Amino acid sequence: KTTVRLVFLGAAGVGKTALIQRFLQDRFEHKYKRTVEELHGIEYDVDGGKIRIEIMDTSGSYSFPAMRKLCIRNGDAFALVYSVDDRESFNEVQRLRDEILELKDEKHIPLTVVGNKVDLENQRLVRTEDIMPIVEFDWNASFVEASAKTSENVLGVFKEILRQVNLP
Ligand code: GDP
Repeated sequence: KTTVRLVFLGAAGVGKTALIQRFLQDRFEHKYKRTVEELHGIEYDVDGGKIRIEIMDTSGSYSFPAMRKLCIRNGDAFALVYSVDDRESFNEVQRLRDEILELKDEKHIPLTVVGNKVDLENQRLVRTEDIMPIVEFDWNASFVEASAKTSENVLGVFKEILRQVNLP
């Protein structure tokens, strides 16, 4: 397969666009900007050639369940993003995982759960030690925390997603 599609899903405002922008441009947008469906393509060097990685930012699609379903069906790997200062945003991650499992036939679906906004430590409502066992043991998925604002571990997020699809 020469194109790998990464799909970012999560409640509005958790920082999907910010994480993608950080990774792609080392840029951080301080103002909240609702994005429409956006697709970012990057070339990635691997042994013996190039592959194309497409990053789908679904930030604008929340009122369009059909669009979200299409993204899930076409996706190869998923980043499920919540914000550590918003408990409801983790509930949304659980709902999204259920929807992915319903729509995909594959036995193992590459899933990375991302707790974003760790810079807001004093506003934290979702604890690492509560989430990690659910994600890693119950779901057999990857768990990472990051901050698009400080850029802490943003590379780690993408490394983990790519590792899940067997890319170095
Ligand atoms: P999206 O709807 O999931 O794409 O969220 P956005 O990327 O548009 O971010 C929503 C809001 O959260 C914006 O005001 C961002 O500046 C802010 N934001 C995103 N990531 C972080 C982060 O890591 N820390 C903090 N403090 N704010 C963030």
